[in-house]
Amino acid sequence: MTFKDIRFGPAGLGGVDAALDRLEDYSKKRLKACEIAFTYGVYIKDKEDAIRIGKKAKELDIKLSIHAPYWINLNSKEKKKIEESKKRILDCCKVGDWLGAYVVVFHPGYYGGMDKEETYQNIKKAIIEIKEEIKKNKWKPELAPETTGKVNVFGSLDEIKRLVEDTKCSFTIDFAHILAREKIVDYEKIKKLFEEYKSWHCHFSGIEYGEKGERKHKKTGRENWKNLLKELPKDKTITIINESPYDVEDSIEGLSIMLQKR
Ligand SMILES: [Zn+2]
Repeated sequence: MTFKDIRFGPAGLGGVDAALDRLEDYSKKRLKACEIAFTYGVYIKDKEDAIRIGKKAKELDIKLSIHAPYWINLNSKEKKKIEESKKRILDCCKVGDWLGAYVVVFHPGYYGGMDKEETYQNIKKAIIEIKEEIKKNKWKPELAPETTGKVNVFGSLDEIKRLVEDTKCSFTIDFAHILAREKIVDYEKIKKLFEEYKSWHCHFSGIEYGEKGERKHKKTGRENWKNLLKELPKDKTITIINESPYDVEDSIEGLSIMLQKR
């Protein structure tokens, strides 16, 4: 089983001071992707720092992505909250451009008691507006809304696909979230939905879930890795960010399983 292009990497880079060492360490472990977690805030603020980190990543051939803050809701009833959410995503795009990151991942928003179609339209409108800003600034990272893990949160596979079609944004397929949300991962459906796109940004980990969806990410089981790698399309450019509490260790395991299967 040979993949055309596949990369594994953790969901974090740590603080600015340790970033270059971390990248070296990931590289030694043959991890070729890293998602910088701005989940609790855009903590890289200095342009020089960002450029330095980006340059190092490029030298080591580590593909960078960014996870935007959790506190984002593009479907809030309060206009102010939508604007703040847009700004958070745009801040990630700005810093992401300095870093040379290729996508900015985010959870688009909540239904908040609203109709699903109305929610979709609001989120679509916000993404189009954010894209206009990105274009104006000539920033390179693409927006990659993520499939979410809770039944009552916007972000089903079909919703994300529709956003991709309607706004020409990119996407993040979180396989753990899909399992938590749908109780099953329908790989055939996923392959069909995203067949035409060459680059897939993916999240993966073990997950604990209940009726309403995800509870928490957990260690990625070996069998889960094997199954995912068996099912993933082989002809695409795939990045798999591991979001387990053992993201580095689990990424190494995924990589080693993939190499064994060659
Ligand atoms: Zn995720």
